Amino acid sequence: MIPSPPVRAPQIGFLYLPPIRVQGYSIAGEETVVQVPELDVCFDIGRCPRMALTSRFVALSHGHMDHAAGLAYYFSQRYFQGMDVGTVICHPKLEQPIHSMMRAWVEIESQRTPYQVRSIEPDQEFELKNNIYLRAFDTVHTVPSLGYVIVERRSKLRPELVGLPQQRLVELKDEGQQITTTQEIPLVAYTGDTATGPHLDRSDVLGAKVLIIECTFMEDGHRGRASVGKHLHLDEVVELIDRSEAEAVVLIHLSRRTHIGIAREQLESAVPERLKDRVFLLMDNRSNRARYEQQDRDASE
Ligand SMILES: [Zn+2]
Ligand SMILES: [Zn+2]
Repeated sequence: MIPSPPVRAPQIGFLYLPPIRVQGYSIAGEETVVQVPELDVCFDIGRCPRMALTSRFVALSHGHMDHAAGLAYYFSQRYFQGMDVGTVICHPKLEQPIHSMMRAWVEIESQRTPYQVRSIEPDQEFELKNNIYLRAFDTVHTVPSLGYVIVERRSKLRPELVGLPQQRLVELKDEGQQITTTQEIPLVAYTGDTATGPHLDRSDVLGAKVLIIECTFMEDGHRGRASVGKHLHLDEVVELIDRSEAEAVVLIHLSRRTHIGIAREQLESAVPERLKDRVFLLMDNRSNRARYEQQDRDASE
């Protein structure tokens, strides 16, 4: 007998939730990186898989190694490949440690990698692109942590002015009247690692079109473990899905011990029928591939 070949690289999870893609890798304690290419953002960076490099922004939820390890590599590879300087958005308590880490790399490598760190307070916003903002919110974990909501602001003509001639609108504006109102649409919410609490009942979290939520523990006997590690259990997640208005809920951060087949079964029995077609497991590659192939067929018809 000859020795076996090395284990294969993990497969990246992928969901097309029109108009966005949610892709990445997320197993509790091992690696979490969840990218939305359309919004130029990665939630956490994991070990920085190749696909993550294309996002200009990394929204870091907290400093645990499985979420943050690839940060220096992310900055370095973007520089090496001639891309814009990468930016990490993080909890204020992580700003100095990230500078220290990057200083240490200057000593290790004898070269300086350009990077940007922007700390963000809960309920502060950071502009990702025109009219699209990343908003942080407080979460509850074993270390300082944040969740994020990406909101779009659209300016709309005030309803009572709809139908007025352009000339009249210009006049009103010149008179100093407010002719538009701003509508806010929460596009994506990302919880990071967190225990349950009122922070998950925020209207921007519950109102997000796509909700990406950690669900570390699924089995009945694991509720205690979830609360000790300040993580969510499937029971809490199901309650949240019920209150959420999301068109799609993506579960991430499953424990390595929970086989994906078991996870599928647990979901099948815990999620009420009326909610089922909205709930996805990021790492359920078999189901997600079948769904994508169907989407592809539907689109080409
Ligand atoms: Zn984690
Ligand atoms: Zn953690």
